Amino acid sequence: MSNITFTMLKPDAVANNYTGAIISDFIQGGFKIQAMKYIWLTAKQAGKFYDIHKERPFYNDLVAYMSSGPIVAMVLEKDNAVESFRTLIGATDPTKAAEGTIRKKYAKSIEANAVHGSDSDANAIIESSFFFSQFERF
Ligand code: UDP
Ligand code: MG
Repeated sequence: MSNITFTMLKPDAVANNYTGAIISDFIQGGFKIQAMKYIWLTAKQAGKFYDIHKERPFYNDLVAYMSSGPIVAMVLEKDNAVESFRTLIGATDPTKAAEGTIRKKYAKSIEANAVHGSDSDANAIIESSFFFSQFERF
């Protein structure tokens, strides 16, 4: 399944009222919404979602941050979704993100960087199924 990716509008983006603008950018970028959920993660849930990063020095801060306020989780569809979406959002560090990208426009810091984007087709499905039961069939 190369046509879906998973994203979250992170707590800084939601708290700063960028939700509508960012979703508009996704749609302008050619993505279709397949699923969407507004949810406040517990630290346990955030820790499980980011389990692949548990040995990284930023893990504990990241888990605290991702459970600090509500997020919007979404599954997006487009041809070549994973790569196309990562181009739209820009580099992890907003100071290195290209002009016009979502992280360049809306991110506060390398941690509070406005949005998540899956890094592979396999992870897009794993991450989508973390939030949305309908993706478990893939
Ligand atoms: N992160 C951080 N410090 C770092 C690198 C990453 O706080 O030095 C956070 C940031 O929120 C990032 C997330 O951890 O989005 C996951 O890191 P990853 O390397 O997977 O970046 P992404 O795929 O989100 O661009
Ligand atoms: Mg990543």
